[in-house]
Amino acid sequence: MVTCLNDALFPNVGKAVVTLLRRLGVDVDFPEAQTCCGQPMVNTGYLDEAVPVVRNFVSAFEGYDHVVTPSGSCAGSARHQHGIVARRSGDPGLERAVAETSPRVLELTEFLVDVLGVTDVGAVFPHRVAYHPTCHSLRMLGAGGGRLLVPDAHRRADVAAGVRRTRDAPGRGARGHRTRGVVMTGTFVGMPAFPTAAKAALADDQLRRNLALATGTIRSKRAAVVGEVDNWEELRLAGAAIKDRTLRHLDEHLLRLEESLGARGAVVHWARDAEEACAIVAEVATAHRATDVVKVKSMATQEIGLNEALAEHGINAWETDLAELIVQLGHDLPSHILVPAIHRNRTEIRDIFAREMGLVGRPAPADLTDEPARLAEAARLHLREKFLAAKVAVSGANFAVAESGTLVVVESEGNGRMCLTLPEVLISVVGIEKVVPTWSDLDVFLRLLPRSSTGERMNPYTSTWSGVTTGDGPQEVHVVLLDNGRTRALADEVGRQALRCIRCSACLNVCPVYERTGGHAYGSVYPGPIGAILNPLLKGVGVDEQTDSLPYASTLCGACFDACPVRIDIPSVLVDLRAQVVDAHRGSSGHRAEAAAMKGAAWALGRGSRLRRLERVAGAGARLLTRRGRTRGPADERPRRHPPGGTPRRRHRRGAAGPAGPRRRPQRGRRPARALHRAGGGLPRHGHPLPPRPGC
Ligand code: SF4
Repeated sequence: MVTCLNDALFPNVGKAVVTLLRRLGVDVDFPEAQTCCGQPMVNTGYLDEAVPVVRNFVSAFEGYDHVVTPSGSCAGSARHQHGIVARRSGDPGLERAVAETSPRVLELTEFLVDVLGVTDVGAVFPHRVAYHPTCHSLRMLGAGGGRLLVPDAHRRADVAAGVRRTRDAPGRGARGHRTRGVVMTGTFVGMPAFPTAAKAALADDQLRRNLALATGTIRSKRAAVVGEVDNWEELRLAGAAIKDRTLRHLDEHLLRLEESLGARGAVVHWARDAEEACAIVAEVATAHRATDVVKVKSMATQEIGLNEALAEHGINAWETDLAELIVQLGHDLPSHILVPAIHRNRTEIRDIFAREMGLVGRPAPADLTDEPARLAEAARLHLREKFLAAKVAVSGANFAVAESGTLVVVESEGNGRMCLTLPEVLISVVGIEKVVPTWSDLDVFLRLLPRSSTGERMNPYTSTWSGVTTGDGPQEVHVVLLDNGRTRALADEVGRQALRCIRCSACLNVCPVYERTGGHAYGSVYPGPIGAILNPLLKGVGVDEQTDSLPYASTLCGACFDACPVRIDIPSVLVDLRAQVVDAHRGSSGHRAEAAAMKGAAWALGRGSRLRRLERVAGAGARLLTRRGRTRGPADERPRRHPPGGTPRRRHRRGAAGPAGPRRRPQRGRRPARALHRAGGGLPRHGHPLPPRPGC
């Protein structure tokens, strides 16, 4: 399979592949009916338009032993996205055809190594070589799991004298230097759509430096501690299975949790949305005449905009997590799930402390420096007064164990332990997806979470509490079980896996988009890859432009899936959400041109014969324009790309002997000749014998 882009723009690549395979003794055919794998439609969410293209693909390649392509993304698309398109079509025949064809689609190096057993094709590089494993090869095709096999190339090549720092790579520098529904925190209200917000963020060099340093550090720590665990993949599978099993019977587990909590003296409240949850917390705090509450870091309370809601009731909510404190004192917005102030550097933090602490409590020391120990000391002294004065604390929970009515908070600073034990009243706002049935289920997540989030083997503080214990800790405990769109997400067949999320933030730290834009561009307390799927799932698509832009805030590289401890297939959910966004806007004026272009592309790529006709027309037009001198410009300075004899498609059409011909299509129902090795096998020129293959 020569990809449509290769065929049109880089035909030498296709030609070289055919030459190589022929030299290895492979019987190569070039089905003329082939057009495109359908990625342009799938990646933009036009799944209906992708159906005829995928149908053409499976028809063109039906019956071949292997479909080989010099493109990781095309092979990845065929293997992982064609199934999504086929299911969307509702045609069982297409689903069967895709299931039969997709596994036989291989990227060239997969075919060489895994099928032919060839690890050295005798390539010589008389120049500097940069090896870039594509994201799709690494992740969609799993090529990253194997050993890198470029055994001799470096000995023959002029090895690059120096290694460029990754951050200096081209393209990495900044350019030019209510109804009753789901409500997210009010602080992000009015944020522009992702492309607009991202553009502004990309122009901030300081932000990008802070992010690159912070995410790079966390990534390295995580990789080191995850690498220590032999059965990490089994743990991931177990975590995903427990969450899926629990979500299937969520109603039963929640009722059991309510019963267990009640039996231990906690008061359970149910909140359908942010408004209800905030009202419950405000009512409890007001009943105790509280004017100040201390807070444990909690995504759920940020999601519902609790601080702003309490302020309307005259209650101050004080964040006690160090990073949250920095955000609060800086009148800022959180930009990371785990490290909300990741966009700030130490100097900025010192300035915020020096300027703001004295306005709301104990001031920072006059000689405060930006040393981490001094900054932490200033925060500790400032917060100590808040802990000792507050009668009411508010927390979230990382997990809620149904069998014993136990809430669990994991943290690193000890501020959570202070909030959970010192005040008289504790109110915990807990998303309904946080429930786990048993303590043995909890065990799996307590092993997955710290390594994935902070890159530690275990959390410094793991606090568990079950209702009220007389004379020990808060004597009044309220638990608010929060929906706020979670049941909507649960109803989404593809997207419900997002409810497995344990908010570790590993997907943020590996995401190339997040690393460059930071979290604010996502316009939500949930940024990064998980935010790109969770926000639309909780709020629904077609509601506002900002939410609809989020599923497109990704390159679909798959790094998030690799890092996710509960195996959320974020790329697949993104594609499905993009399709929902497209469906929600079909026919609307702003999307007509794009939809028409996709329809046109689907028509052209749905049949090889149509594409051929278009190519002929385009070729004639180009020749005409060239003769009239209309195409003068930079393009004329480019080296000629088309090889002598034309593109593989043209050579094939002419029946030319050579790399792309001759034309031959296997008869339906008959297996064609297998990829044949030359009798005797091997590459005589280099003497690398090919392993014998059955049937050869
Ligand atoms: S999606 Fe996965 S990696 Fe991302 S925060 Fe959730 S659990 Fe962590």
